[in-house]
Amino acid sequence: MEKLKIAIQKSGRLSEQSKQLLKDCGIKIKNGKNALRVSASNFPLDLFYLRDDDIPQYVQDGIADIGIVGENVLLEKKTKCNIVQKLGFAKCRLSLAIPKSIEYKGIEYFKNKKIATSYPVILSDFLSKHNVKSEIHEISGSVEIAPNIGLADAICDLVSTGSTLFSNGLIEVEEVLKSEAVIIGKTNFSSVQQSILDKLIFRIQAVQKGRNSKYVILNAPNEKIELITGIIPGLKSPTVVPLAENNWSAVHSVISEDVFWDVIDELKNAGAEGILVMPVEKMII
Ligand code: ATP
Ligand code: ZN
Repeated sequence: MEKLKIAIQKSGRLSEQSKQLLKDCGIKIKNGKNALRVSASNFPLDLFYLRDDDIPQYVQDGIADIGIVGENVLLEKKTKCNIVQKLGFAKCRLSLAIPKSIEYKGIEYFKNKKIATSYPVILSDFLSKHNVKSEIHEISGSVEIAPNIGLADAICDLVSTGSTLFSNGLIEVEEVLKSEAVIIGKTNFSSVQQSILDKLIFRIQAVQKGRNSKYVILNAPNEKIELITGIIPGLKSPTVVPLAENNWSAVHSVISEDVFWDVIDELKNAGAEGILVMPVEKMII
């Protein structure tokens, strides 16, 4: 039977979360650490473990049908792959950083400066968009030490918290790109592959909505129920069930993670008591 082939990072910042996502989708993968290729036992999916930099090319060539990479890698490689689904993890940004002793006055600072980076393609696009000509020095790792060893005046590198920059005496001055993990796909799928992909994306979206939601149960006097159900409207409408105590009810509903604490405050102010919050594993609307 035809299968869908997915390439994921063998080891690095994307590998654990990529495997966890597939597991949360109910897809069973054996843990053969050194295998290059494994098959899922209960879903028509083959996995390839590769370096992230190689994944866009493999997907473009159809060696793999889809892959998980950071948008930064996708854009740097300039392949003909499409983004099929954003995944919301491995969020980071590609930024320009300079020694913190320098007073930064604007992007002109980079004119004729030497910039070390692993992302020469994205960086040169960015600089030419801003009409700045610099000398780009491509290096493949430990970019953040380049200014300290006199290799470059500035760097363009991935940042999440900024602590690596800070401990190397650098400060972020321009954001070049925002990035997160995405599923990329080749441009044409067979109809069987397309239907496997649709199934996979359906499951991923259910997992993502679940991760982004909390199930809440609370108690409130009946005269407050209308106010409270206005705050937490639920998927269709909230469940309201009477308590054994007269004139009291329990409300069950779902809250989005993004607004969670604000909503909890509103509920408390509206008279809710005994608020229980539980994770949602999957959500199919
Ligand atoms: P490989 O050996 O597969 O080439 P790598 O060293 O190039 O791995 P990692 O450091 O594992 O790559 O990062 C993989 C991806 O994780 C990056 O391309 C980026 O999208 C994302 N990422 C998220 N946060 C960060 C961060 N703080 N620094 C670097 N990458 C990050
Ligand atoms: Zn890499």
